[in-house]
Amino acid sequence: MARIVHTVVDAAKDFFASRYPGYQLARFEHSFGKTIFHLEPLGQAICPRCGKPCLKIHDRTLREVRDMPMSHAGEQLFLRFRIRRVRCDCGCHQCEKLSWLEPKLD
Ligand SMILES: [Zn+2]
Repeated sequence: MARIVHTVVDAAKDFFASRYPGYQLARFEHSFGKTIFHLEPLGQAICPRCGKPCLKIHDRTLREVRDMPMSHAGEQLFLRFRIRRVRCDCGCHQCEKLSWLEPKLD
């Protein structure tokens, strides 16, 4: 009988840490033809303007993006995470920049 295991093994954590720097895999869910990886930030948000770690978070926005390279035939793969908007002493009120995330296309 098919069984879906929702345990994250260390190897998977390493894989996610290298692929999505600054975030870690918290859990994932799987439904027919769709897998969602829930990512959590590992450390402090970095101000996109001055590059300093920022303790003050203005807000968090839930984002869900499709990971095209990771998707394969018949299976769609999504990442779900909260992107943080800093409230930095330098006056910056922008969302942190994630190296692995394409700029949002509005
Ligand atoms: Zn700043």
